[in-house]
Amino acid sequence: MRSISWLRRAVIDAAPPNQYVGARVHPELEQLLVLQDRQQKIRQIQTEIKTLPLQRNHLESQLAASAAGVEALKQKGRQLEMGRKKLELDVGTRTETISRLKTQQYQTRKNDEFQAIGHEIERYENEIRRLEDEELEVMLAADKVKAELEAAEKAARATKESISRQLSDLETKSKTLESQREELAKEWDALADKVDGDLLSQFERLFNSKGDAAIVAIEHGVCTGCHMKVTTATASQVKAGKEIVSCENCGRILYDAQ
Ligand SMILES: [Zn+2]
Repeated sequence: MRSISWLRRAVIDAAPPNQYVGARVHPELEQLLVLQDRQQKIRQIQTEIKTLPLQRNHLESQLAASAAGVEALKQKGRQLEMGRKKLELDVGTRTETISRLKTQQYQTRKNDEFQAIGHEIERYENEIRRLEDEELEVMLAADKVKAELEAAEKAARATKESISRQLSDLETKSKTLESQREELAKEWDALADKVDGDLLSQFERLFNSKGDAAIVAIEHGVCTGCHMKVTTATASQVKAGKEIVSCENCGRILYDAQ
């Protein structure tokens, strides 16, 4: 069993500054206040532990989005290249047609046929110019996509590096929180052993149902748990510090913080 002075020290450590100065607190409440502090810390840590998978998911989706961005640009690049090849083929077939037409033109003896073929050759040459203009535009677009892809790949490498660092930090944080939680739980068990069984179950019931605290201070006659004024009788009972007194409004156990 540890000494009372240790317990008092622990109570002071567990409480916000000034709260216990000169306070007359029922001895069992002192133990419960330390217990409550540890339980609140355990709850904070558990809340934090619960956010970890969300943080991990968030990081992983950032990573996936960055990879998807790169993949989309690669796909765009492939499509432009396919388009360019098709235009090149179209130019090729027209070039062949022109050379076939030119052969026909040289072989003909008829002037009107010669001219008709000449017009057709011209039409194909115009088409070739249009296709080559289009091909040039596609090539310019492909260059732009290539530059965008290089930038996106560079950014994706940085993102990947940063995210794997953050994921490993998260892993470390998770382990730290887990060991803190275990440490606090051990401390809690040791403290709980020293508290009267009925009082401990009352404390646990209250702590779980209220969600914040089972034991709260009275300040200027007001319960700091429910913010209602307690009766004068209750206030003086608490001030005397001789028994465990509950707030008649919310049921939380009261202590005097004046
Ligand atoms: Zn109350």
